[in-house]
Amino acid sequence: MAVPQRRTSKTRKRLRRTHFKLTVTGLVTCSHCGEMKKAHHVCPKCGYYGGKAVFLNGKVIKEQPKKTSKKKAR
Ligand SMILES: [Zn+2]
Repeated sequence: MAVPQRRTSKTRKRLRRTHFKLTVTGLVTCSHCGEMKKAHHVCPKCGYYGGKAVFLNGKVIKEQPKKTSKKKAR
């Protein structure tokens, strides 16, 4: 049976483990105010989403009708 020739030292083990780290996923910086926000969510700080103001001072801004180019069925 294969056996390690040498015991891994504390230093070697710890050096290897310096690469083990947790990363915060699903958080991005807001393009408007630069705060951290959830990806694909309206920024809670400034109320912007996709470069447009969705709400300001707690008030929801009226959504403009979307431009849809529906093609008629043939
Ligand atoms: Zn923001």
